[in-house]
Amino acid sequence: MEIPYKIYLEESEMPKAWYNLRADMKNKPAPLLNPGTGKPMTLEELSQVFCRELALQELDCETPYIPIPQEIQDFYKMYRPSPLVRAYCLEKKLGTPAHIYYKFEGNNTSGSHKLNSAIAQAYYAKQQGLKGVTTETGAGQWGTALSMACSYFGLDCKVFMVKISYEQKPFRREVMRTYGASVTPSPSNTTQVGRKILAEFPDTNGSLGCAISEAVEAAVSNEGYRYVLGSVLSQVLLHQSVIGLETKTAMDKYGIKPDIIIGCAGGGSNLGGLIAPFAGQKLRGESDVRLIAVEPASCPSLTRGKYAYDFCDTGCVCPLAKMYTLGSSFIPSPNHAGGLRYHGMSSIVSQLYDDGLIEARSAEQTAVFEAAEYFARVEGILPAPESSHAIRVAIDEAIKCRETGEEKTIVFGLTGTGYFDLYAYQSFNDGKMTDYIPTDEDIAKSLSKLPQIK
Ligand SMILES: *Cc1c(COP(=O)(O)O)cnc(C)c1O
Repeated sequence: MEIPYKIYLEESEMPKAWYNLRADMKNKPAPLLNPGTGKPMTLEELSQVFCRELALQELDCETPYIPIPQEIQDFYKMYRPSPLVRAYCLEKKLGTPAHIYYKFEGNNTSGSHKLNSAIAQAYYAKQQGLKGVTTETGAGQWGTALSMACSYFGLDCKVFMVKISYEQKPFRREVMRTYGASVTPSPSNTTQVGRKILAEFPDTNGSLGCAISEAVEAAVSNEGYRYVLGSVLSQVLLHQSVIGLETKTAMDKYGIKPDIIIGCAGGGSNLGGLIAPFAGQKLRGESDVRLIAVEPASCPSLTRGKYAYDFCDTGCVCPLAKMYTLGSSFIPSPNHAGGLRYHGMSSIVSQLYDDGLIEARSAEQTAVFEAAEYFARVEGILPAPESSHAIRVAIDEAIKCRETGEEKTIVFGLTGTGYFDLYAYQSFNDGKMTDYIPTDEDIAKSLSKLPQIK
């Protein structure tokens, strides 16, 4: 069957339920722990920080399909289904017998997949009758997605933006403000934890871990507010399963079977969502597809971190999560893989990796931008730097196929566009981009501060 350049689904073929991969995992991801007691977080405890329905989703390791409320399905229809694109031009240029596909999530104003979870989280906050939500944003995609979702439901949205991004990406900030969000550079003096971090490190560029601490404090100290997070949590991977479900429906329609699925990995949400139904098949012994996570060499939690309980934030106010981590005090160099700079990895992805179900690779920044430029010139889309980590490995795998003559089917997640990352492109184009790789000592130092869990 002739495969079109773009496979679009009909609206009626869009998923009506999210797929909860945890239901098919024999080794469940480890529970979040209360940092005070060392015991698993209860629904009551989680509900003080998160909306109740989202706390329930966070704890649910058994229900395989969770219905998507109609209002969320309707919102999804404004920008989904997203296309699954056959990268004919890239294949031709590479001279590879491989068949390359990418699932493109950049077709909405926020420019990334993050809107898939933002709209769900805003919906549940509204259902619960809350006034608003607080959050952090690094590169700005999550804050943008959340501000769009909040304005749709008439919720207040307070965003703590990592200081360096706040300064480097003023236009991101303006998009958020246009949607009605308030944006504060983090660390800030508006929270106790922010003031403490500023007192200790006055010149800090900020980090996601630090912005999370501030956002959590702002949520618990403001009546009618809850905290929402754009990645890492199991509820976020659940919402992002729409990416994988659509991908699978589109492939099944044309009888295409993937050999390799590749996703970039920051906190693990797009990867976890893209691979979800395929990893489910693999867990049930129905497929032997290879699943590859690609992380930046500057923030290599899977490839060089440790699988242990750690804090999700720098201020150590959040629950402890068992994950591949570089230590919550790890502050990556201010490089450009903005959305991939988190010190830990989703518990679900961490457990799958520990069980050998997924592979992980790290990619250096200049190699990533070479892939981004190559891709932009043949496929037209200007990719986000985060997404370009997946492009790098997809190209590498396609080149291997050229050498072996194998006609493999490679699918990767093109999570977003790079219009707000032009400083990074500029430094690449000017030949000024460098690769920063932390030393073993750097990593050992932050790992030595992991919390001791009996
Ligand atoms: C946030 C972001 C990522 C990384 O986050 P994950 O939770 O690991 O998916 C990747 N790509 C883009 C475009 C992003 O905005």
